Amino acid sequence: MPSDLHTPLLHQLKQDLLELTRQAGFDQVRVGKPDDLPAARNWLETWLARGFHGEMGFMARHAHLRTSPQRLHPGTVRVLSVRMPYLQESPGQALKALEDPHQGYISRYALGRDYHQVLRQRLQSLVQALQRRAQDLGWHPDASETPHFSARVFTDSAPVLEVELAQNCGLGWRGKHTLLLDRKAGSFFFLGEIFTDIPLPIDAHSNAHHCGTCTRCLTLCPTGAIVAPYQLDARRCISYLTIELKGSIPESLRPLMGNRIYGCDDCQLVCPWNRFAQYGTVDDFARRKELDTTTLCDLLSWDTNTFQQNLAGSPILRIGHERWLRNIAVALGNAPANIRSRAALAQRQSHPSALVREHVNWALHRLQTAPLAQSRAPSAPSGI
Ligand code: SF4
Repeated sequence: MPSDLHTPLLHQLKQDLLELTRQAGFDQVRVGKPDDLPAARNWLETWLARGFHGEMGFMARHAHLRTSPQRLHPGTVRVLSVRMPYLQESPGQALKALEDPHQGYISRYALGRDYHQVLRQRLQSLVQALQRRAQDLGWHPDASETPHFSARVFTDSAPVLEVELAQNCGLGWRGKHTLLLDRKAGSFFFLGEIFTDIPLPIDAHSNAHHCGTCTRCLTLCPTGAIVAPYQLDARRCISYLTIELKGSIPESLRPLMGNRIYGCDDCQLVCPWNRFAQYGTVDDFARRKELDTTTLCDLLSWDTNTFQQNLAGSPILRIGHERWLRNIAVALGNAPANIRSRAALAQRQSHPSALVREHVNWALHRLQTAPLAQSRAPSAPSGI
């Protein structure tokens, strides 16, 4: 255990933390305790009991670890929450991309490299930089032990309630859309965590929430997935339908998905706090050139090899070519019919996957009987 002699050292290390964090590509860091999260446990249990997690069985499997950082990583005395903005263009420009029904809309976080890899590498670099700085300052709580403190990094890759932990550290508040919000940064950022045994001074924070009476994300969600404040029915969420769901997309929801082919940003795009969204500075999240042109007909024509080559290193790769085609077929079914879209779909009618064929046939039928899409692009709140 550190002695009082270590107190000035820990304060100095804490002072250096923000600078080291920024050098690693993150824009903010906060330090909190690894307390159990009883409120989060109640919320999670209720959410699971209502079946809102759909096919995401992994959410239920490690529920007890999610709400107890010390059980997940014994010895943890501090949780460092960091964030990294990823926006490359304004929310207003993203809204414009939603308005062209012949283009596929991809969630802004997925236009570049897979954030899991990028954040993990940078979190590990940050830990190493912190360990070097601690060693330089003379951190050595036990002469028989290594001068390094231990640390484990997480980025949406283990049973960690990131938003809850970030909120506990003072990095923001959970918005009614269930994502973390900050008054100076909006919500277009990734979160990462470092669980560590070095007792850095804790950041003071308030528990203030700043959604007020606003309900824009609830009322403008295309599929009505935010069924109440802080309650997301993932089974209706377009991010779930296009990414997590392996099988057939419910027909009743398909017309509401518009041209969103991988994820959805609508609840963030309409949020007034994203007037203050920060732009990403890490090149990895720049839009890959293969996605510069996202004409649905072109994307549907990619074969498996082209899909894998064009999206190597992208988070989109994880859904596989079959679900990629499924999603694009739905978007084409929602677009105004033209000769090209019918021809592109017709070429996929003989695809070996029954899942693809079923969605392609649905789209073709829809273009013949109801050519106009029912989904709408949301309007921006004033100021965006
Ligand atoms: S849109 Fe309104 S209610 Fe929803 S998260 Fe933003 S401020 Fe909160």
